[in-house]
Amino acid sequence: MPEVSISEIQHGTLPLASRLNPRFAPDTPLLLATLKIRWAPRNPQRAIADLEKRLLAFSPGFRHHECRGMGMYHVFSHAGGNGKSHAGGEERAASSGKLEGFDAALALAHLLEHAVIDFLSEVTGEMTCSGITGAHRSVSHRYDLLVECRELEIGCCCLALALGWIQGLFRGHPMGSAEKDVLSLLRWMHRRASPPVFASRVAGVLGWSEDRAERALAALQQTGYLESTAYAMNLSGLPAYRPRRLSQGA
Ligand SMILES: [Zn+2]
Repeated sequence: MPEVSISEIQHGTLPLASRLNPRFAPDTPLLLATLKIRWAPRNPQRAIADLEKRLLAFSPGFRHHECRGMGMYHVFSHAGGNGKSHAGGEERAASSGKLEGFDAALALAHLLEHAVIDFLSEVTGEMTCSGITGAHRSVSHRYDLLVECRELEIGCCCLALALGWIQGLFRGHPMGSAEKDVLSLLRWMHRRASPPVFASRVAGVLGWSEDRAERALAALQQTGYLESTAYAMNLSGLPAYRPRRLSQGA
């Protein structure tokens, strides 16, 4: 079971980013997440392949990611897909400095990057989204994920979902309809919602039961994307949700 934590998050344009990945658009802001990952599975390649299989079952779009990762870190290659898609993007895993060995934690960071790209594209509808993953040379267990992302809040939310859900997979909790609901809700919140948002409104708009809407809202609250307050204006005491504003470094 991997230990993964977020050490730092930064957001903004990076003038030299195109040197890391030529597909990075110069004026598109990047989400830079520095993660601390400790993971030493007995059979790393099999563990990663198993994770890829589960992610593919959740979102077949992974099959169409263009992965420019170094040979042994190339993801979803066994699935035979390298075509173009909405979640396309060209990205690659940088050298870990340990080329001779397979770094399971780097491979996991790289899969997390693909998951963030997939979820972001699903939510924002952006036609392309590029990223890159690399290991720190001087600090062990540190990995950087760099993903094109216009809104810090949405990027942080997608990262939190990817982290939470992938860690859930290791605990035997599959990704399925509840997780798809969370992405659908985030997509709607990102595009259309004006706060405050109530479960009843989400239920009405998305055609869900209020319980289902409440579960998805609670999941987004758990990522830190939404905050909830008892809404006093109508004296109902029902929770009202609104997106939290983040500042860089949050
Ligand atoms: Zn890749």
